[in-house]
Amino acid sequence: MKNAKTKCVDVAKKIAKIRDNYTCVKCGATRETRQIHGAHIMPVTYNGTAADPENIIALCSTCHSMGRTSAHQDPIQFGRWFEEMYPGRYDALNEKAQKYTKNPVKIDWDEKRRELNGFL
Ligand SMILES: [Zn+2]
Repeated sequence: MKNAKTKCVDVAKKIAKIRDNYTCVKCGATRETRQIHGAHIMPVTYNGTAADPENIIALCSTCHSMGRTSAHQDPIQFGRWFEEMYPGRYDALNEKAQKYTKNPVKIDWDEKRRELNGFL
């Protein structure tokens, strides 16, 4: 059974995948050939950005976690690619995540999920 946060994050992933046309933003693979994941930039443990579609990109399974140069297996190289692809986006996300961490407010994940569902 998924908890409220996970269910909310799932909706944010869906929004991000629709925005990216279910196409890997790194290699261009589509869901016809590979599984497309909603991949977090700031880790999902940061509540301030966990369910923010801006913090999620569509990646194929290879670019996300399976491949030798994937985000999970070579995060430094991946970070360089991300900064080149989306200049300044990492810093903006990091700022948002840190701001929340410094001043945490309780998140009503069910309410946030309802709000995100409005974008679908
Ligand atoms: Zn890919």
